[in-house]
Amino acid sequence: MRMLLMGPPGAGKGTQAKVLADRLGIPAVSTGDIFRANVKDETELGLEAKRYMDAGNYVPDEVTNAMVRDRLSEADAGEGFLLDGYPRTLPQVGTLDDILADHGHQLNAVVALVADTDVLVDRMLRRSKVDGRSDDSEEVIRHRQEVYAAETKPLLRVYAQRGLLVEVDGVGEIAEVSERVLAALKTLDG
Ligand code: ADP
Repeated sequence: MRMLLMGPPGAGKGTQAKVLADRLGIPAVSTGDIFRANVKDETELGLEAKRYMDAGNYVPDEVTNAMVRDRLSEADAGEGFLLDGYPRTLPQVGTLDDILADHGHQLNAVVALVADTDVLVDRMLRRSKVDGRSDDSEEVIRHRQEVYAAETKPLLRVYAQRGLLVEVDGVGEIAEVSERVLAALKTLDG
């Protein structure tokens, strides 16, 4: 299974990615997590990415694309993967297509978690108090929703046209949302 988990900031992608990857027996690859690990370790990549992340902007495509190409070439991603937070721009869609083609693979599914913007902003404000992410001030949170709407939401159409998109209600208990996603994946297969 090679799948994408999409949806606006705060929709619960990271949480669901871990649960679903576990259930499906594939690695979850989160570009946000990889960037944060690099920021924490103060690597060159982390220092570059931090400037963008703190402002709620996307890290430049060249940087993100190179990182994802490396990660998807690792052995554990050979049999499948769940990508969380990538692609987020049209050029990233093209790069992912190229990476998959280079390995002779295809995408099987794109799941979009759907939630109302007010619910999302509220969730993120609460999360910012708990884990103190530097990209979680209210102003930055609102900006990230706008960036998503402008840059990433249009990608859903691209995947819908390819017949790969399923939209899933992201509001509810964690386990409930996971079950919805697993049920939705079956509708694509069949
Ligand atoms: P969330 O799940 O809250 O939307 P992430 O943890 O996925 O956020 O990402 C955090 C930050 O990392 C983003 O705001 C962005 O700066 C950077 N980032 C993650 N994925 C990408 C990507 N595919 N392209 C560009 N920047 C990215």
